[in-house]
Amino acid sequence: MKKLSAEELRLTARFFSNEIGRLATRPIRIMEVCGSHTVAIFRTGIRQLLPEHVELVSGPGCPVCVTPNDYLDRAVAYSRRQDVIITTFGDMLRVPGSTSTLQLEKARGADIRIVYSPLESLEVAKANADKRIVFLAVGFETTAPTAAATILAAEQARIDNFFVLASHKLVPPALQALLEDGTTRIDGFLLPGHVSAVIGEQPYQFLISDYQTPAVIGGFEALEILQAIYHLVKQLHEGTSQLENQYRHIVRPDGNRVARTVLDKVYCIVDSNWRGIGMIPHSGLAVNDGYRHFDALHTLPVEAEPLQEHRGCRCGEVLKGSIKPGECGMFGTFCTPEHPVGACMVSVEGTCAAWYKYGAGRFQL
Ligand code: SF4
Repeated sequence: MKKLSAEELRLTARFFSNEIGRLATRPIRIMEVCGSHTVAIFRTGIRQLLPEHVELVSGPGCPVCVTPNDYLDRAVAYSRRQDVIITTFGDMLRVPGSTSTLQLEKARGADIRIVYSPLESLEVAKANADKRIVFLAVGFETTAPTAAATILAAEQARIDNFFVLASHKLVPPALQALLEDGTTRIDGFLLPGHVSAVIGEQPYQFLISDYQTPAVIGGFEALEILQAIYHLVKQLHEGTSQLENQYRHIVRPDGNRVARTVLDKVYCIVDSNWRGIGMIPHSGLAVNDGYRHFDALHTLPVEAEPLQEHRGCRCGEVLKGSIKPGECGMFGTFCTPEHPVGACMVSVEGTCAAWYKYGAGRFQL
């Protein structure tokens, strides 16, 4: 989108807002799949520009939120080993596992280091040859290529004390699972820009061919989001279903081939467990046989504690868009960003955290 003056921005926003109002002649539910979209929608106040009957619901697009308890429990088990250093993105520290968090384990003396890129783990590995470095490889198609590239870099540098605990998730199978599940009515998808930059357009085609559900790949600026919503509403008004790419300056139709080549080299597609949604076929990435020696699960098996879910936490329903955070009895009282009960309140991209930060008191919960 070309750079617009403030006045042009205002007029364009008003145009989209008016057109959405004109075309939305019935209640419409649009799911924004990506946590960054959820935050951008709140930050820019887009809900106030939409008619009441055009509802935006958040989907399973926050990587920390969809990572299930059993993964956290295993990470905690690794952190308790004297010979292990955990490297992880900072968001993972506060996510509650069954009975502990990595933050708690760190306070108890576990060696857990925050990294901003998985590649930093290799420096930790070189500096600590007597330890085993376990990187917590979570996230969607956006972060998986860097984790895969780190495995390739470790192999090239002959680093043999670096491992990954992989729980990457793939977005398209989750969308299919939501449509099959049917507990949430979804009239259209605002598709994630960053994930799409890697996978391109093709993996979403089933939304049109099998489910006749309009889908638009959108950017993260206010006008880009409004424009995407406008195109979804327009399709619904005209009774069509198409896959549109309104983020073309970033998302190429065939995505990022280099990133996908790295993924294909190191990972394989597996069934994966999503918090609140359960096991989704072909929705995750695991280290493939050729690189198994970097797979923590294979090389350093650990016994995790018995799985316990957090009583009263409705993260699963929030992630499916079947309830809003305010419908959880603990929202804003027992569960806050300072004292999160569930994963959706931890990350800034978590739906409950976003509603708490931007929404409470300003929107109907
Ligand atoms: S408000 Fe807290 S307890 Fe409730 S669903 Fe969200 S994360 Fe879970």
